[in-house]
Amino acid sequence: MCERENVQTLQRGMNFHLDAGVSVVLMSRRHNAPYPDRVEDSGRVIVYEGHDSPRCNDVPDPKSVDQPERNPSGSLTQNGLFHRAAQNHKDGMGHAEFVRVYEKIMNGVWAYNGVFTLADSWLETRGRRKVFKFRLEMAEEPSDSDRGLATLEHARVIPSSVKAEVWRRDHGRCVTCGRTDNLHFDHIIPYSKGGTSLDALNIQLLCARHNVAKRDKIE
Ligand SMILES: [Zn+2]
Repeated sequence: MCERENVQTLQRGMNFHLDAGVSVVLMSRRHNAPYPDRVEDSGRVIVYEGHDSPRCNDVPDPKSVDQPERNPSGSLTQNGLFHRAAQNHKDGMGHAEFVRVYEKIMNGVWAYNGVFTLADSWLETRGRRKVFKFRLEMAEEPSDSDRGLATLEHARVIPSSVKAEVWRRDHGRCVTCGRTDNLHFDHIIPYSKGGTSLDALNIQLLCARHNVAKRDKIE
């Protein structure tokens, strides 16, 4: 499903600097999702929640304690690493962190939502505890991107329900060649030409090769 990182093998939802200095996060907006991630501004912004402490003897109920910034050893957790990067960037130190976002649309099926920049982070009080929030804004691909994906236009985030419908309809295969790996959710009419992300009729599954081939034809 995912052309770069094999997400199904990733153990963690948050992966700071996973691959060539690009971070990766997994999100879910399913009703049983562990964290209330949300999408705003027609898909240009994701507000991503930090992650809880792992369950252990000292922390029998992670949902009852603050999300940790540091591990017991004193090193930064994934929350802490993302938070520090966001704050450094806000303070004018360094580039915004690039974050690839993958979204769980059903069991075992992850969709690539695109590359975002880590624009901000803050702590929010929920009930009696504090949780981390990260603001991710849709970005250009890093300029050294491989696979020619830098030239792809931004795909606005397609709602999970639409992705699930498209996935079922297209049987999890590229509609052109039938491949089942490196699949993308493609706007049949591009977003930039008024095509919607909200209707499954305008979305199809394409493998990376046919996605790029189609894009070249349009341009
Ligand atoms: Zn194909």
